Amino acid sequence: MTAPVIFSGIQPTGRKHLGNYIGAIRQYVEGQERGEPAIFCIVDLHAISVAFDPADLRERLYDTTAILLAAGLDPDRCLLFRQSDVLEHAELTWLLSAVTSHGDLNRMHQFKDKSAKQRELVSAALFFYPVLMAADVLAYKATEVPVGDDQRQHVELMREIARRFNERFGETLVVPEHRIPTIGARIMDLQEPERKMSTTDSTESGTLYVLDEPGSIRKKLGSAVTDSGREIVRAPDKPGVSNLIEVLAVARGVEPEAIEAEFEGGGYGDLKGAVAEEVVAYLAPVRERYAELRPDEAELEATLAAGAEKARTISSRTLAEVRERMGIGPAR
Ligand code: ATP
Ligand code: MG
Repeated sequence: MTAPVIFSGIQPTGRKHLGNYIGAIRQYVEGQERGEPAIFCIVDLHAISVAFDPADLRERLYDTTAILLAAGLDPDRCLLFRQSDVLEHAELTWLLSAVTSHGDLNRMHQFKDKSAKQRELVSAALFFYPVLMAADVLAYKATEVPVGDDQRQHVELMREIARRFNERFGETLVVPEHRIPTIGARIMDLQEPERKMSTTDSTESGTLYVLDEPGSIRKKLGSAVTDSGREIVRAPDKPGVSNLIEVLAVARGVEPEAIEAEFEGGGYGDLKGAVAEEVVAYLAPVRERYAELRPDEAELEATLAAGAEKARTISSRTLAEVRERMGIGPAR
């Protein structure tokens, strides 16, 4: 079996939360062991698709870089870079737009959800977001894309774009597979457990940030919304309890069934307390390491620059092929 080429992107918007950690970052760290290469990109070009502040964007980019390194990404074992440093992403977006159906973009849930929430401007960038995401992945001929459940539809679309490109211009791009965790693919907001925990759109008290202090984690979990029942089991009509069970299972590295068995006959208070202690212990090493890494922005820049250089050697090869196939520029 050949090793997978792994690619995933994460936005430098706001503070990263437990959903990002469990749904995505945890998989990145594991992916370093298997990917040849494993490529992780901080997608600042995606972040400008909604309202943003330029100075803040740069700060959050360093935050996200430091979180990823603190979580265990090792620049010797993966490629870690800033999307905007590799110009091929933007160029490939445009080239791929020629084989992207407008109707498909119109069907994207993320666009519908996020555009409804924009107060000033629904940007064309928000609509084009999935094409840029397709370019990110296809530029590296990635075979595997670790993401949370909310990105399922976007990965489906990039597969369609790759297939359409290959049909129209000859076999060039690789059709990637998503890798969505079986447990913790969709961590829910603690206050509104029917909605996903999200960087840009969830309640402050319902969002557990990777960098939250233990006191804050305990408080948020203590007031997590459950239901009027008593049973500690996962069920469609128990989104709050189901979410807590999944979080505890992931943090402990066990199956959710084991949590249900352990807490049979117990109360919601016991469950919340156990989740809080486990999450505190789960995130503490990341928060500590982050505090060491974040102040040295020059070092973070150097890491990103080295990553970008390696990324460019791969993506520029793909771009040359794509341009050639499409008849763009002089013949090679
Ligand atoms: P935004 O709401 O602005 O889109 P986000 O919280 O979704 O922000 P992203 O940077 O867009 O953060 O997503 C990074 C990764 O985290 C993606 O792979 C996404 O699928 C995953 N992810 C995001 N939210 C969750 C969640 N609640 N549970 C599990 N995975 C998630
Ligand atoms: Mg997102």
